Amino acid sequence: MKYSDMFKIKPGSSVRLDRIDPGFKDKHEDQASALDEIEKYAHRLREQQYLLYAENKRSLLIILQAMDAGGKDGTINHVLGSMNPQGTRVYGFKAPSAEEASHDFLWRIHQAAPHRGQVAIFNRSHYEDVLVSRVHNLVPKKVWSKRFDQINDFEKNLVENGTHILKFYLHISEDEQLRRFRQRIDDPARQWKISESDYMERERWDDYTKAFEEAMNKCSSKHAPWFVIPANHKWFRNLAVSQIVAETLESLKIEFPEPTVDIKEMKKKYHKAEEEEAAKRAKKADGKNSKKGKK
Ligand code: ATP
Ligand code: MG
Repeated sequence: MKYSDMFKIKPGSSVRLDRIDPGFKDKHEDQASALDEIEKYAHRLREQQYLLYAENKRSLLIILQAMDAGGKDGTINHVLGSMNPQGTRVYGFKAPSAEEASHDFLWRIHQAAPHRGQVAIFNRSHYEDVLVSRVHNLVPKKVWSKRFDQINDFEKNLVENGTHILKFYLHISEDEQLRRFRQRIDDPARQWKISESDYMERERWDDYTKAFEEAMNKCSSKHAPWFVIPANHKWFRNLAVSQIVAETLESLKIEFPEPTVDIKEMKKKYHKAEEEEAAKRAKKADGKNSKKGKK
């Protein structure tokens, strides 16, 4: 099954998150039964990222958004884990600094956009400016409501300049979030991740859901689609995101650039002895084969 068709928010549609099962795992029983596929896409991702880097003409921007503990970090780890760090970058967007806040909300985002040949992942993004800003009334409605069009224009500009954009909402249930908070509390290696504000934001689950739905409905476009990824099962989330990213890159039909030198000439010039040796060996092998053929 193509997850890009399954999970894409059709432009102009009205997604309802409560109608999408966060525990969906397709035909797979568990992680073990999906392992072959997970590895297959990790491999394809690696190949495609290498091509993108070598071609050095286009770029890929992956945007990750989710409720707290939705799995952004884990997804980054998995997707980038199969790529060559050279040619990839991760940006985490926190509350804007004083300088960032004194510019328009897209200023800091544009600076982090990937350059040619690069894969950039945004851990949170300009969508916070229609999510947290809206839920907490950081700016009035007349300000944030104009941002959907501004975001669409901005993303279109990036796309027309050679950046491919994929946007993922990692969809977990409220119960799963609480379970993950509890895990963070219980596990000394994860306690640093939990904060009081995580529980406070959780109380605004419905407000965030409404804000996410509107953002995805208004800003899922043909050129920069939103995907809602069932994410209660971490391994399924990784599989679905890797498949969509790998297949998107494959659809670009990226090829290695032509060599900048004449390869034949280079061989003659710098590898003369090896070339002559190889020619001799080939001739010998040919002779043996033709004798065998006569027998
Ligand atoms: P985790 O999910 O693992 O806890 P995180 O992404 O939540 O990681 P934090 O440092 O806990 O990282 O949170 C970053 C905070 O920055 C979030 O509360 C987010 O809402 C806030 N933030 C990001 N962008 C903006 C913005 N444009 N305006 C206001 N707040 C923002
Ligand atoms: Mg947090």
